[in-house]
Amino acid sequence: MRLFEAIIDANHRAVAGDASAGLHPAEFADALPVVALTCIDPRLNAFFPNALALPAEEFIWLRNAGNTITGPLSSTMRSLALACAVKGGREIAIIGHSDCQVCKTTTLMLLEKLKAIGVERSRLPDNVNEFFGMFGSERQNVIKACDFTRNSPLIGPNIPVHGLLIEVETGKLEWIVNGYETKPLLPLKEVQARVTDMMESLGAFKDFAMGEMKFPEMKIGEAATTSKPAGMAVPPVPPASAAGAVEQVIGQVVSFAEKNWPKPPIRVQPSTLPPVKKPVKAPLPPPIRPRNLRRD
Ligand SMILES: [Zn+2]
Repeated sequence: MRLFEAIIDANHRAVAGDASAGLHPAEFADALPVVALTCIDPRLNAFFPNALALPAEEFIWLRNAGNTITGPLSSTMRSLALACAVKGGREIAIIGHSDCQVCKTTTLMLLEKLKAIGVERSRLPDNVNEFFGMFGSERQNVIKACDFTRNSPLIGPNIPVHGLLIEVETGKLEWIVNGYETKPLLPLKEVQARVTDMMESLGAFKDFAMGEMKFPEMKIGEAATTSKPAGMAVPPVPPASAAGAVEQVIGQVVSFAEKNWPKPPIRVQPSTLPPVKKPVKAPLPPPIRPRNLRRD
């Protein structure tokens, strides 16, 4: 079981009333500490890191209004990157929450509230909505933040980026973006280089004109043998027909992509990890403080 699988399991059991629910942090030493971004809402204060069943020293807590990330090089991304690079964060969690006021505040309401505290419209940026990062759905906002983070050049490809929502009345977590399953995107240049390599290996088709539906004289097997990049499989039998040739090219492309496309990041390299300690007997710490934190 991986860290966030254990966290969700412990959280759900605790919310259901299981007093023994929790996890042994030492069992997940290679995935800790966790870097978490949450909203500034004070109702979250009592929930973290308890809702994740993590000890405070394994929890790096970033907060901003609406747990919003505005771009792959934003200020919050800078903090996430440094939390991983300098403070050793191994997994990232973007955690939104129910009843988020950033979500419920319209631009007009915001302008009125700002005016009430002496901030005039004329002194604000033109695009107030965009500048303050207002959003219409807590869930979509978390997914968007995960996308920005996963594709940021500042975040290492082996750092899982999770998206969660926490229910502010119960502390129950919902796991909406599984960072263990998300594949990193390749940089555009890398994609172009690989496509160029692949097309060069299919040099026999350079004269192929789609409009005329005519194939060159050379057979695919011969071409692949003369200009084969490392890892490219040589078709064993030349195709007997144009349709067969196309099928074979598609097969080569798929085979090449399967061999060269990066695998999803799961863990950091074991050789760089500290030795895993034996888990302590008692669950640490109590996972949830079952208090109703709603403000009347
Ligand atoms: Zn909020």
